[in-house]
Amino acid sequence: MNPIGNESKVPLLRFGVVADVQYADNDDKQAWYNPTKTRFYRNSLKQVTKAFEYWESIGRSNDDCPIGFILQLGDIIDALSKSICSRSAIDRTLGCFLNNAKMPTFHTVGNHELYNFNRSELCHLFDEYLFHHNVHESLNVSHPNVMDMKTLYYRFKPRPGIKFISLDTYDISVLGYDQNHPKYQLASNVLRSYHHCDDWNVWDSDKDLNDADKRFQSSNGALSPEQLQWLDAELTESDLLNEMVIVFGHVGLHPQSCGWDSILWNYDQVIDCFNRHESVVAYFNGHAHNSGYSYDGNVHYIVLHGIIETPPDIEAFTTVTIHDDHMLIDGMGVEQKILANYHKTFTFDHTIQNHSIRMSVPVGLDEYHNEMDILTPNTIKIKV
Ligand SMILES: [Zn+2]
Repeated sequence: MNPIGNESKVPLLRFGVVADVQYADNDDKQAWYNPTKTRFYRNSLKQVTKAFEYWESIGRSNDDCPIGFILQLGDIIDALSKSICSRSAIDRTLGCFLNNAKMPTFHTVGNHELYNFNRSELCHLFDEYLFHHNVHESLNVSHPNVMDMKTLYYRFKPRPGIKFISLDTYDISVLGYDQNHPKYQLASNVLRSYHHCDDWNVWDSDKDLNDADKRFQSSNGALSPEQLQWLDAELTESDLLNEMVIVFGHVGLHPQSCGWDSILWNYDQVIDCFNRHESVVAYFNGHAHNSGYSYDGNVHYIVLHGIIETPPDIEAFTTVTIHDDHMLIDGMGVEQKILANYHKTFTFDHTIQNHSIRMSVPVGLDEYHNEMDILTPNTIKIKV
């Protein structure tokens, strides 16, 4: 076992992770759920900038494997922005990531985005910032404008043999949907059955719930059967191709990695799905505002502390380095340092040096494929 930072083999891939930026143009405020914690709303973008400065420095000093991209684990702006100006808050925040377009950011949806925007608006924003700005413009990629029909879950392949899957942990929820939407109806029935009322303020609380039932609050959600089916198909494909899969989403999955109040409603179905496939090695999430970790012998579950409640003089970002039999999770400041050995060793062609990104976004029930191979940081070939 190699200690952190003392690796002899050239890594396969390196990426950065941040969680719970929760920017708002608002004065610092005590966290509502814990008087010992402060939310540093305006400073959160300085934390993002600090993270990118570090990742940029890795690129300068570590030519064998610079940071390829960033995962943003959701809650990029705070619910408070709704009363100020949601659009200026998200533009400012996404712009902060966009300033570092050499390291494109892959966003996943959090509850706070859905307090500010509906799902259709969010699809457009993700499309505009992730694909058009970060990839399309700076890397000359074109992308069909069919975002109204796209889901918020997707996958990409940053190099041959490695797949990333972003989950929509609010696919079934009362957030971001019109109240007549079937998924809203389904979610509201779930919340009504646990809270015995129709009061939104009660649904947003877990004070009358016990143990595992605490997850049934409106700030959490579930994966739909269609998304689970899609996930299963992606993992089946990866098993066949001997690919390594890293999954990320906003809400927690493993009850030993974070509290029940931050766990997905149908977490057990997702974990069962992971455990039916040998390709999955790790799941990253935010939302809990506390670091957490568990390993069930198959998948490493890593929970980031996140940015919003981190004091300005402490860092809150993570750098992950992928090898064929383990990953190094190198958290800075409040984040954790973990050496995560996989349950198996993956086979790779180590002569491949170029980073490539292959992405597909399903549209409704019909899977829509848009694949791109990035041959160099500035040249992209697209297959649609
Ligand atoms: Zn959250």
